Amino acid sequence: MKSKYIVVTGGVLSSVGKGTVSASLGLLLKEMGLRITLVKVDPYINVDAGTMNPYMHGEVFVTEDGAETDLDLGHYERFADIDMSKYNNITAGKVYFEVIRKEREGKYLGQTVQIIPHVTDEIKSMIHKASQMRDAQVTIVEIGGTVGDIEGLPFLEAVRQMKLEDEEGVIFVHVALVEYLKATGELKTKPLQHSVQELRRIGIQPDIIIARAEVPLDEESRRKIALFTNVKPEFVFSSYDVDTSYEVPSILQRQGLHRKVISKLQLSPLNEERNPLESFVSKMRSSSKEVKIALVGKYVKLKDSYISIREALYHAGVALDVRPKIKWIEAEELEGGKVDVLEEAEGIIVLPGFGSRGVEGKIEAVRFAREKDVPFLGICYGFQLAVVEFARNVLGLRGAHTTEVDAETPHPVVTVLEGHHPVKGMGGTMRLGAQTIHIKEGSILHKIYGSVLVTERHRHRYEVNPNYIKKLEEGGLTVSGVSDNGLVEFVELKGHRFFVGSQPHPEYKSRPLHPSPIYMAFLAASAKLEPEVEVAVGSR
Ligand code: GLN
Repeated sequence: MKSKYIVVTGGVLSSVGKGTVSASLGLLLKEMGLRITLVKVDPYINVDAGTMNPYMHGEVFVTEDGAETDLDLGHYERFADIDMSKYNNITAGKVYFEVIRKEREGKYLGQTVQIIPHVTDEIKSMIHKASQMRDAQVTIVEIGGTVGDIEGLPFLEAVRQMKLEDEEGVIFVHVALVEYLKATGELKTKPLQHSVQELRRIGIQPDIIIARAEVPLDEESRRKIALFTNVKPEFVFSSYDVDTSYEVPSILQRQGLHRKVISKLQLSPLNEERNPLESFVSKMRSSSKEVKIALVGKYVKLKDSYISIREALYHAGVALDVRPKIKWIEAEELEGGKVDVLEEAEGIIVLPGFGSRGVEGKIEAVRFAREKDVPFLGICYGFQLAVVEFARNVLGLRGAHTTEVDAETPHPVVTVLEGHHPVKGMGGTMRLGAQTIHIKEGSILHKIYGSVLVTERHRHRYEVNPNYIKKLEEGGLTVSGVSDNGLVEFVELKGHRFFVGSQPHPEYKSRPLHPSPIYMAFLAASAKLEPEVEVAVGSR
Protein backbone atom coordinates (compact mmCIF):
# COMPACT_ATOMS: atom_id res chain seq x y z
CA MET A 1 0.00 0.00 0.00
CA LYS A 2 1.15 3.51 -0.77
CA SER A 3 2.03 5.72 2.15
CA LYS A 4 0.58 9.14 2.78
CA TYR A 5 3.12 11.87 3.50
CA ILE A 6 3.23 14.75 5.94
CA VAL A 7 6.03 17.12 5.05
CA VAL A 8 7.19 19.37 7.89
CA THR A 9 9.10 22.52 7.01
CA GLY A 10 10.49 25.22 9.26
CA GLY A 11 10.47 28.98 9.07
CA VAL A 12 12.14 32.07 10.53
CA LEU A 13 14.73 30.31 12.68
CA SER A 14 16.11 26.83 13.07
CA SER A 15 15.71 25.05 16.43
CA VAL A 16 12.08 26.10 16.86
CA GLY A 17 11.07 22.60 17.76
CA LYS A 18 10.21 21.14 14.37
CA GLY A 19 11.69 17.83 15.48
CA THR A 20 9.56 17.74 18.61
CA VAL A 21 6.43 18.65 16.66
CA SER A 22 7.13 15.94 14.06
CA ALA A 23 7.83 13.38 16.78
CA SER A 24 4.67 14.39 18.66
CA LEU A 25 2.53 14.04 15.58
CA GLY A 26 4.15 10.66 14.96
CA LEU A 27 3.20 9.55 18.45
CA LEU A 28 -0.41 10.72 18.17
CA LEU A 29 -0.93 8.98 14.83
CA LYS A 30 0.82 5.81 15.94
CA GLU A 31 -1.33 5.63 19.06
CA MET A 32 -4.41 5.69 16.83
CA GLY A 33 -3.23 2.44 15.32
CA LEU A 34 -1.58 3.80 12.18
CA ARG A 35 1.74 2.40 10.98
CA ILE A 36 3.99 5.39 10.87
CA THR A 37 7.57 6.29 10.22
CA LEU A 38 9.54 9.50 10.31
CA VAL A 39 12.29 10.71 8.02
CA LYS A 40 14.71 13.53 8.75
CA VAL A 41 16.12 15.24 5.70
CA ASP A 42 19.29 17.19 6.36
CA PRO A 43 20.34 19.47 3.54
CA TYR A 44 24.03 19.60 4.53
CA ILE A 45 26.66 17.94 2.34
CA ASN A 46 28.06 15.70 5.10
CA VAL A 47 27.10 12.11 4.35
CA ASP A 48 26.10 11.66 7.98
CA ALA A 49 26.30 13.52 11.28
CA GLY A 50 29.23 11.38 12.48
CA THR A 51 31.98 13.83 11.62
CA MET A 52 30.24 16.92 12.96
CA ASN A 53 31.23 18.72 16.11
CA PRO A 54 28.50 18.44 18.75
CA TYR A 55 28.92 22.16 19.42
CA MET A 56 27.60 22.91 15.97
CA HIS A 57 25.03 20.23 15.63
CA GLY A 58 24.28 18.76 19.02
CA GLU A 59 24.44 15.07 19.77
CA VAL A 60 25.06 12.43 17.14
CA PHE A 61 22.28 9.90 17.56
CA VAL A 62 23.12 6.26 16.79
CA THR A 63 20.46 3.86 15.51
CA GLU A 64 20.27 0.09 16.05
CA ASP A 65 21.79 -0.52 12.63
CA GLY A 66 24.70 1.79 13.42
CA ALA A 67 23.83 4.93 11.46
CA GLU A 68 25.24 8.15 12.92
CA THR A 69 22.32 10.48 12.57
CA ASP A 70 20.79 13.79 13.44
CA LEU A 71 19.57 14.18 17.01
CA ASP A 72 15.99 14.51 15.79
CA LEU A 73 15.96 10.76 15.25
CA GLY A 74 16.41 10.52 19.00
CA HIS A 75 13.23 12.57 19.47
CA TYR A 76 11.40 10.30 17.04
CA GLU A 77 12.49 7.17 18.91
CA ARG A 78 11.72 8.59 22.34
CA PHE A 79 8.33 10.09 21.49
CA ALA A 80 6.91 7.59 19.03
CA ASP A 81 8.67 4.65 20.71
CA ILE A 82 9.85 3.13 17.42
CA ASP A 83 13.29 2.18 16.13
CA MET A 84 14.83 4.32 13.43
CA SER A 85 17.38 3.09 10.89
CA LYS A 86 19.87 4.45 8.40
CA TYR A 87 17.02 4.97 5.93
CA ASN A 88 15.37 7.48 8.23
CA ASN A 89 18.03 10.15 7.89
CA ILE A 90 18.61 11.43 4.37
CA THR A 91 21.37 13.99 3.85
CA ALA A 92 22.35 15.98 0.77
CA GLY A 93 25.69 14.19 1.05
CA LYS A 94 24.02 10.78 0.72
CA VAL A 95 21.90 11.96 -2.20
CA TYR A 96 24.78 13.50 -4.16
CA PHE A 97 27.01 10.51 -3.41
CA GLU A 98 24.41 8.22 -4.90
CA VAL A 99 23.76 10.42 -7.95
CA ILE A 100 27.48 10.67 -8.70
CA ARG A 101 27.95 6.94 -8.19
CA LYS A 102 25.15 6.24 -10.67
CA GLU A 103 26.62 8.73 -13.14
CA ARG A 104 29.99 6.96 -12.97
CA GLU A 105 28.29 3.61 -13.46
CA GLY A 106 26.75 4.95 -16.64
CA LYS A 107 23.18 4.81 -15.33
CA TYR A 108 22.40 8.19 -16.90
CA LEU A 109 24.36 7.54 -20.06
CA GLY A 110 23.98 10.27 -22.65
CA GLN A 111 22.18 12.67 -20.29
CA THR A 112 23.26 15.87 -18.61
CA VAL A 113 22.93 15.10 -14.89
CA GLN A 114 21.00 17.90 -13.17
CA ILE A 115 19.39 18.92 -9.89
CA ILE A 116 16.01 18.52 -11.58
CA PRO A 117 15.25 15.70 -12.31
CA HIS A 118 18.21 13.56 -11.22
CA VAL A 119 18.87 14.88 -7.75
CA THR A 120 15.17 15.42 -7.00
CA ASP A 121 14.35 11.91 -8.25
CA GLU A 122 16.99 10.47 -5.96
CA ILE A 123 15.58 12.42 -3.00
CA LYS A 124 12.07 11.14 -3.71
CA SER A 125 13.27 7.61 -4.11
CA MET A 126 15.12 7.76 -0.77
CA ILE A 127 12.02 9.13 0.97
CA HIS A 128 9.83 6.39 -0.55
CA LYS A 129 12.40 3.77 0.41
CA ALA A 130 12.36 4.88 4.08
CA SER A 131 8.61 4.62 4.03
CA GLN A 132 8.58 1.17 2.37
CA MET A 133 11.10 -0.19 4.86
CA ARG A 134 8.41 0.26 7.51
CA ASP A 135 5.47 -0.47 5.28
CA ALA A 136 4.18 2.83 6.63
CA GLN A 137 0.68 4.16 6.16
CA VAL A 138 1.87 7.61 7.12
CA THR A 139 5.38 8.97 6.65
CA ILE A 140 6.37 12.20 8.33
CA VAL A 141 9.17 13.91 6.44
CA GLU A 142 10.91 16.68 8.34
CA ILE A 143 13.02 18.99 6.20
CA GLY A 144 15.97 20.29 8.23
CA GLY A 145 16.99 23.94 8.26
CA THR A 146 14.76 26.85 7.38
CA VAL A 147 12.81 27.66 4.26
CA GLY A 148 15.01 29.90 2.14
CA ASP A 149 18.29 28.10 2.84
CA ILE A 150 20.11 27.52 -0.42
CA GLU A 151 20.91 23.87 0.38
CA GLY A 152 17.28 23.12 1.11
CA LEU A 153 15.96 24.05 -2.33
CA PRO A 154 16.38 20.67 -4.09
CA PHE A 155 14.60 18.99 -1.17
CA LEU A 156 11.68 21.43 -1.23
CA GLU A 157 11.48 20.97 -4.98
CA ALA A 158 11.36 17.20 -4.50
CA VAL A 159 8.50 17.36 -1.99
CA ARG A 160 6.67 19.86 -4.20
CA GLN A 161 6.80 17.24 -6.98
CA MET A 162 5.56 14.58 -4.57
CA LYS A 163 2.41 16.63 -4.01
CA LEU A 164 1.94 17.02 -7.74
CA GLU A 165 2.27 13.28 -8.22
CA ASP A 166 -0.18 12.49 -5.42
CA GLU A 167 -2.46 15.41 -4.74
CA GLU A 168 -4.48 13.64 -2.01
CA GLY A 169 -1.58 11.85 -0.43
CA VAL A 170 0.72 14.69 0.64
CA ILE A 171 0.19 17.56 3.07
CA PHE A 172 2.50 20.32 4.22
CA VAL A 173 2.91 21.45 7.80
CA HIS A 174 4.92 24.61 8.34
CA VAL A 175 6.38 25.26 11.80
CA ALA A 176 7.60 28.81 12.28
CA LEU A 177 8.58 31.13 15.06
CA VAL A 178 6.36 33.96 16.22
CA GLU A 179 8.31 36.44 18.29
CA TYR A 180 6.76 37.52 21.58
CA LEU A 181 7.56 41.07 22.61
CA LYS A 182 7.48 41.09 26.40
CA ALA A 183 7.43 44.86 26.69
CA THR A 184 4.15 45.22 24.80
CA GLY A 185 2.81 41.69 25.17
CA GLU A 186 2.53 41.45 21.38
CA LEU A 187 3.05 38.46 19.11
CA LYS A 188 4.84 39.40 15.90
CA THR A 189 3.65 37.26 13.01
CA LYS A 190 5.36 39.09 10.12
CA PRO A 191 8.46 36.85 9.89
CA LEU A 192 6.17 33.80 9.81
CA GLN A 193 4.14 35.37 7.01
CA HIS A 194 7.35 35.98 5.06
CA SER A 195 8.53 32.43 5.48
CA VAL A 196 5.21 31.17 4.11
CA GLN A 197 5.51 33.58 1.19
CA GLU A 198 8.92 32.08 0.49
CA LEU A 199 7.37 28.60 0.51
CA ARG A 200 4.59 29.63 -1.81
CA ARG A 201 7.08 31.29 -4.15
CA ILE A 202 8.58 27.86 -4.74
CA GLY A 203 5.19 26.30 -5.23
CA ILE A 204 4.31 24.95 -1.81
CA GLN A 205 1.12 26.02 -0.06
CA PRO A 206 1.13 24.82 3.54
CA ASP A 207 -2.01 23.01 4.69
CA ILE A 208 -1.29 23.52 8.36
CA ILE A 209 0.67 26.20 10.21
CA ILE A 210 2.15 25.64 13.62
CA ALA A 211 3.09 28.91 15.23
CA ARG A 212 5.87 28.38 17.72
CA ALA A 213 5.97 31.07 20.38
CA GLU A 214 6.84 31.63 23.99
CA VAL A 215 3.15 31.96 24.81
CA PRO A 216 -0.07 30.49 23.37
CA LEU A 217 -1.37 32.18 20.25
CA ASP A 218 -4.20 34.65 20.77
CA GLU A 219 -7.23 34.65 18.47
CA GLU A 220 -6.24 37.83 16.68
CA SER A 221 -2.78 36.50 15.80
CA ARG A 222 -4.32 33.23 14.66
CA ARG A 223 -6.70 35.06 12.33
CA LYS A 224 -3.90 37.24 11.02
CA ILE A 225 -1.66 34.26 10.31
CA ALA A 226 -4.54 32.46 8.58
CA LEU A 227 -5.37 35.41 6.38
CA PHE A 228 -1.83 36.12 5.29
CA THR A 229 -0.83 32.50 4.74
CA ASN A 230 -3.96 31.40 2.88
CA VAL A 231 -4.87 28.80 5.52
CA LYS A 232 -8.16 28.58 7.43
CA PRO A 233 -7.91 29.68 11.11
CA GLU A 234 -8.76 26.17 12.32
CA PHE A 235 -5.63 24.94 10.57
CA VAL A 236 -3.39 27.30 12.50
CA PHE A 237 -2.01 25.67 15.66
CA SER A 238 -0.06 26.96 18.57
CA SER A 239 3.00 25.36 20.11
CA TYR A 240 4.21 27.28 23.12
CA ASP A 241 6.96 27.01 25.72
CA VAL A 242 6.51 24.29 28.32
CA ASP A 243 8.85 22.99 30.99
CA THR A 244 9.20 19.60 29.29
CA SER A 245 9.04 18.76 25.60
CA TYR A 246 7.05 15.60 26.45
CA GLU A 247 4.11 17.94 26.99
CA VAL A 248 4.08 18.99 23.31
CA PRO A 249 1.99 15.98 22.13
CA SER A 250 -0.70 16.93 24.67
CA ILE A 251 -0.68 20.56 23.56
CA LEU A 252 -1.16 19.58 19.94
CA GLN A 253 -3.67 16.88 20.81
CA ARG A 254 -5.83 19.30 22.78
CA GLN A 255 -6.02 21.52 19.71
CA GLY A 256 -6.91 18.54 17.51
CA LEU A 257 -3.92 18.59 15.17
CA HIS A 258 -4.05 14.80 14.64
CA ARG A 259 -7.73 14.95 13.71
CA LYS A 260 -7.11 17.62 11.08
CA VAL A 261 -4.27 15.55 9.64
CA ILE A 262 -6.41 12.42 9.57
CA SER A 263 -9.24 14.15 7.73
CA LYS A 264 -6.94 15.92 5.25
CA LEU A 265 -5.20 12.67 4.36
CA GLN A 266 -8.39 10.59 4.58
CA LEU A 267 -6.79 8.10 6.93
CA SER A 268 -8.77 5.46 8.78
CA PRO A 269 -7.38 5.09 12.29
CA LEU A 270 -8.04 1.89 14.19
CA ASN A 271 -8.14 3.23 17.73
CA GLU A 272 -9.48 6.08 19.73
CA GLU A 273 -6.81 8.60 20.53
CA ARG A 274 -4.38 7.95 23.35
CA ASN A 275 -1.34 9.75 24.62
CA PRO A 276 0.85 7.65 26.90
CA LEU A 277 3.14 10.61 27.54
CA GLU A 278 0.42 12.45 29.43
CA SER A 279 0.76 10.34 32.57
CA PHE A 280 4.54 10.35 32.11
CA VAL A 281 4.51 14.16 32.27
CA SER A 282 2.33 14.28 35.34
CA LYS A 283 4.60 11.81 37.11
CA MET A 284 7.59 13.87 36.06
CA ARG A 285 6.04 16.91 37.69
CA SER A 286 4.90 15.21 40.84
CA SER A 287 8.17 13.62 41.93
CA SER A 288 9.53 15.71 44.73
CA LYS A 289 12.69 13.91 45.83
CA GLU A 290 15.57 15.64 44.14
CA VAL A 291 18.84 13.90 43.36
CA LYS A 292 21.88 15.90 42.34
CA ILE A 293 23.76 14.44 39.40
CA ALA A 294 26.99 15.91 38.07
CA LEU A 295 27.63 15.40 34.35
CA VAL A 296 31.27 15.89 33.49
CA GLY A 297 32.18 16.46 29.86
CA LYS A 298 33.78 18.56 27.21
CA TYR A 299 30.79 19.89 25.29
CA VAL A 300 28.66 20.85 28.29
CA LYS A 301 28.05 24.43 27.12
CA LEU A 302 25.63 23.09 24.54
CA LYS A 303 23.22 20.90 26.46
CA ASP A 304 22.03 19.30 23.20
CA SER A 305 25.41 17.56 22.94
CA TYR A 306 24.31 14.98 25.51
CA ILE A 307 20.58 15.05 24.99
CA SER A 308 20.05 11.24 25.14
CA ILE A 309 21.91 11.01 28.46
CA ARG A 310 19.90 13.84 29.98
CA GLU A 311 16.68 12.24 28.77
CA ALA A 312 17.73 8.78 30.01
CA LEU A 313 18.10 10.32 33.48
CA TYR A 314 14.64 11.88 33.26
CA HIS A 315 13.08 8.59 32.12
CA ALA A 316 14.74 6.74 34.99
CA GLY A 317 13.64 9.53 37.35
CA VAL A 318 9.97 9.08 36.49
CA ALA A 319 10.21 5.31 36.96
CA LEU A 320 11.84 5.78 40.37
CA ASP A 321 9.79 8.79 41.40
CA VAL A 322 12.82 11.02 41.85
CA ARG A 323 13.77 14.22 40.09
CA PRO A 324 17.32 14.32 38.73
CA LYS A 325 18.84 17.76 39.20
CA ILE A 326 21.59 17.99 36.64
CA LYS A 327 24.72 20.01 37.10
CA TRP A 328 26.85 20.33 33.96
CA ILE A 329 30.55 20.42 34.67
CA GLU A 330 33.24 21.42 32.21
CA ALA A 331 35.90 18.71 32.57
CA GLU A 332 38.80 21.13 32.03
CA GLU A 333 37.77 23.03 35.14
CA LEU A 334 38.51 20.01 37.34
CA GLU A 335 42.10 19.79 36.19
CA GLY A 336 44.80 20.01 38.83
CA GLY A 337 42.46 18.49 41.43
CA LYS A 338 39.95 21.35 41.58
CA VAL A 339 37.13 18.96 42.37
CA ASP A 340 35.24 20.99 45.00
CA VAL A 341 32.32 21.44 42.61
CA LEU A 342 31.75 17.69 42.84
CA GLU A 343 31.32 17.80 46.64
CA GLU A 344 27.56 18.07 46.61
CA ALA A 345 26.94 15.59 43.78
CA GLU A 346 25.01 12.48 44.81
CA GLY A 347 25.98 10.75 41.57
CA ILE A 348 28.61 11.45 38.90
CA ILE A 349 28.51 10.60 35.21
CA VAL A 350 31.63 11.03 33.08
CA LEU A 351 30.37 11.67 29.58
CA PRO A 352 31.39 10.35 26.16
CA GLY A 353 33.80 12.33 24.03
CA PHE A 354 36.81 12.43 21.77
CA GLY A 355 40.33 13.85 21.83
CA SER A 356 42.49 15.17 24.61
CA ARG A 357 40.80 18.34 25.85
CA GLY A 358 39.41 17.88 29.36
CA VAL A 359 40.67 14.31 29.70
CA GLU A 360 42.67 14.89 32.90
CA GLY A 361 39.63 16.62 34.41
CA LYS A 362 37.47 13.63 33.60
CA ILE A 363 40.05 11.38 35.24
CA GLU A 364 39.90 13.62 38.35
CA ALA A 365 36.13 13.15 38.41
CA VAL A 366 36.50 9.35 38.24
CA ARG A 367 39.02 9.43 41.05
CA PHE A 368 36.75 11.56 43.19
CA ALA A 369 33.79 9.22 42.67
CA ARG A 370 35.89 6.12 43.33
CA GLU A 371 37.62 7.39 46.45
CA LYS A 372 34.58 9.10 47.98
CA ASP A 373 32.24 6.19 47.24
CA VAL A 374 29.92 8.38 45.15
CA PRO A 375 27.79 6.45 42.62
CA PHE A 376 29.56 6.61 39.29
CA LEU A 377 28.64 5.86 35.71
CA GLY A 378 31.23 6.17 32.95
CA ILE A 379 29.84 6.16 29.44
CA CYS A 380 32.10 5.28 26.52
CA TYR A 381 35.02 7.73 26.88
CA GLY A 382 33.96 8.06 30.52
CA PHE A 383 34.31 4.28 30.86
CA GLN A 384 37.68 4.21 29.08
CA LEU A 385 39.00 6.97 31.33
CA ALA A 386 37.76 5.11 34.40
CA VAL A 387 39.96 2.23 33.29
CA VAL A 388 42.87 4.65 32.85
CA GLU A 389 42.28 6.14 36.31
CA PHE A 390 42.15 2.71 37.90
CA ALA A 391 45.33 1.60 36.13
CA ARG A 392 47.19 4.70 37.27
CA ASN A 393 45.95 5.19 40.79
CA VAL A 394 45.05 1.71 41.99
CA LEU A 395 47.34 -0.54 39.99
CA GLY A 396 50.14 2.02 40.12
CA LEU A 397 50.82 1.83 36.38
CA ARG A 398 52.44 5.24 35.98
CA GLY A 399 51.63 7.06 32.77
CA ALA A 400 48.85 4.62 31.87
CA HIS A 401 46.64 6.13 29.21
CA THR A 402 44.49 5.68 26.15
CA THR A 403 46.49 5.86 22.93
CA GLU A 404 43.87 8.31 21.68
CA VAL A 405 45.62 10.90 23.86
CA ASP A 406 49.13 9.50 24.35
CA ALA A 407 50.40 7.27 21.58
CA GLU A 408 53.67 6.68 23.49
CA THR A 409 52.21 5.69 26.86
CA PRO A 410 54.14 2.91 28.65
CA HIS A 411 50.76 1.37 29.58
CA PRO A 412 48.25 1.57 26.72
CA VAL A 413 45.30 0.29 28.74
CA VAL A 414 42.91 1.58 26.11
CA THR A 415 43.95 1.35 22.48
CA VAL A 416 42.90 0.59 18.92
CA LEU A 417 42.92 -3.16 18.41
CA GLU A 418 44.17 -4.28 15.04
CA GLY A 419 41.61 -6.26 13.13
CA HIS A 420 38.66 -4.82 15.04
CA HIS A 421 38.40 -1.39 13.51
CA PRO A 422 38.97 -0.05 10.06
CA VAL A 423 41.28 2.85 10.86
CA LYS A 424 41.34 4.49 7.45
CA GLY A 425 39.38 7.72 7.29
CA MET A 426 36.92 9.08 9.83
CA GLY A 427 33.39 8.79 8.45
CA GLY A 428 31.48 5.72 9.63
CA THR A 429 34.61 3.85 10.70
CA MET A 430 33.89 3.36 14.39
CA ARG A 431 32.32 0.34 16.09
CA LEU A 432 28.75 1.35 15.56
CA GLY A 433 25.25 0.26 16.41
CA ALA A 434 23.62 -2.48 18.43
CA GLN A 435 25.73 -5.47 19.36
CA THR A 436 25.20 -8.40 21.67
CA ILE A 437 26.80 -8.29 25.09
CA HIS A 438 27.38 -11.33 27.27
CA ILE A 439 26.88 -10.49 30.91
CA LYS A 440 28.75 -12.27 33.64
CA GLU A 441 26.44 -14.28 35.85
CA GLY A 442 26.14 -12.99 39.39
CA SER A 443 27.58 -9.57 38.54
CA ILE A 444 25.93 -6.25 39.39
CA LEU A 445 25.26 -5.81 35.69
CA HIS A 446 23.44 -9.16 35.72
CA LYS A 447 21.15 -7.90 38.46
CA ILE A 448 20.64 -4.63 36.63
CA TYR A 449 19.58 -6.25 33.37
CA GLY A 450 18.10 -9.42 34.77
CA SER A 451 19.61 -11.23 31.79
CA VAL A 452 22.91 -12.63 30.58
CA LEU A 453 22.40 -11.50 27.00
CA VAL A 454 21.66 -7.88 26.17
CA THR A 455 22.20 -5.48 23.30
CA GLU A 456 23.26 -1.87 23.49
CA ARG A 457 24.40 0.61 20.85
CA HIS A 458 28.03 1.51 20.28
CA ARG A 459 29.98 4.41 18.88
CA HIS A 460 33.68 4.26 19.53
CA ARG A 461 37.04 3.38 18.08
CA TYR A 462 39.22 2.47 21.09
CA GLU A 463 38.96 -0.64 23.28
CA VAL A 464 40.26 -1.86 26.62
CA ASN A 465 43.58 -3.55 25.88
CA PRO A 466 43.11 -7.32 26.52
CA ASN A 467 46.67 -7.51 27.88
CA TYR A 468 45.59 -5.55 30.95
CA ILE A 469 42.31 -7.33 31.77
CA LYS A 470 43.88 -9.77 34.22
CA LYS A 471 45.62 -6.98 36.15
CA LEU A 472 42.49 -4.83 36.26
CA GLU A 473 40.42 -7.72 37.59
CA GLU A 474 43.00 -8.68 40.18
CA GLY A 475 42.88 -5.07 41.37
CA GLY A 476 39.09 -5.26 41.81
CA LEU A 477 37.76 -3.79 38.57
CA THR A 478 35.68 -6.68 37.29
CA VAL A 479 34.78 -7.18 33.66
CA SER A 480 31.08 -7.91 33.78
CA GLY A 481 30.19 -7.82 30.10
CA VAL A 482 32.00 -8.77 26.91
CA SER A 483 31.15 -8.66 23.21
CA ASP A 484 30.83 -11.74 21.00
CA ASN A 485 34.52 -11.53 20.26
CA GLY A 486 35.61 -10.89 23.82
CA LEU A 487 35.96 -7.10 23.87
CA VAL A 488 35.30 -5.47 27.23
CA GLU A 489 31.82 -3.91 27.35
CA PHE A 490 31.14 -3.31 31.05
CA VAL A 491 33.26 -3.05 34.17
CA GLU A 492 32.19 -2.71 37.80
CA LEU A 493 34.14 -2.00 40.94
CA LYS A 494 33.93 -4.41 43.84
CA GLY A 495 33.06 -2.92 47.21
CA HIS A 496 31.92 0.44 45.83
CA ARG A 497 28.34 1.70 46.31
CA PHE A 498 27.87 1.85 42.55
CA PHE A 499 30.69 2.11 40.07
CA VAL A 500 29.91 1.00 36.54
CA GLY A 501 31.69 1.68 33.27
CA SER A 502 29.90 1.10 29.99
CA GLN A 503 31.62 0.96 26.63
CA PRO A 504 28.28 1.18 24.77
CA HIS A 505 25.75 4.00 25.12
CA PRO A 506 22.66 2.61 26.88
CA GLU A 507 21.08 6.08 26.71
CA TYR A 508 20.28 5.65 23.02
CA LYS A 509 17.74 2.96 23.87
CA SER A 510 16.13 4.74 26.79
CA ARG A 511 12.53 5.81 26.25
CA PRO A 512 10.05 7.51 28.57
CA LEU A 513 8.13 4.33 29.26
CA HIS A 514 11.11 1.96 28.92
CA PRO A 515 13.96 3.54 30.86
CA SER A 516 17.47 2.17 30.50
CA PRO A 517 18.24 -0.37 33.25
CA ILE A 518 21.74 1.02 33.79
CA TYR A 519 20.55 4.59 34.19
CA MET A 520 17.85 3.41 36.56
CA ALA A 521 20.30 1.50 38.70
CA PHE A 522 22.69 4.44 38.76
CA LEU A 523 19.97 6.90 39.70
CA ALA A 524 18.53 4.56 42.32
CA ALA A 525 21.96 4.27 43.92
CA SER A 526 22.45 8.04 43.77
CA ALA A 527 19.06 8.61 45.40
CA LYS A 528 19.92 5.94 48.00
CA LEU A 529 16.86 3.90 47.13
CA GLU A 530 16.85 0.36 48.41
CA PRO A 531 17.46 -2.20 47.05
CA GLU A 532 20.01 -0.30 45.07
CA VAL A 533 20.30 -2.28 41.89
CA GLU A 534 17.26 -4.47 41.60
CA VAL A 535 15.40 -2.18 39.28
CA ALA A 536 15.36 -4.10 36.04
CA VAL A 537 11.55 -3.83 35.89
CA GLY A 538 10.22 -1.81 33.01
CA SER A 539 13.30 -2.27 30.87
CA ARG A 540 13.12 -3.50 27.32
N1 GLN B 1 36.95 8.57 21.94
C1 GLN B 1 36.61 7.26 22.36
C2 GLN B 1 36.68 6.25 21.24
O1 GLN B 1 36.69 6.58 20.09
C3 GLN B 1 35.23 7.24 23.00
C4 GLN B 1 34.13 7.56 22.05
C5 GLN B 1 32.87 7.98 22.75
O2 GLN B 1 32.86 8.38 23.90
N2 GLN B 1 31.76 7.92 22.05
O3 GLN B 1 36.75 5.07 21.49
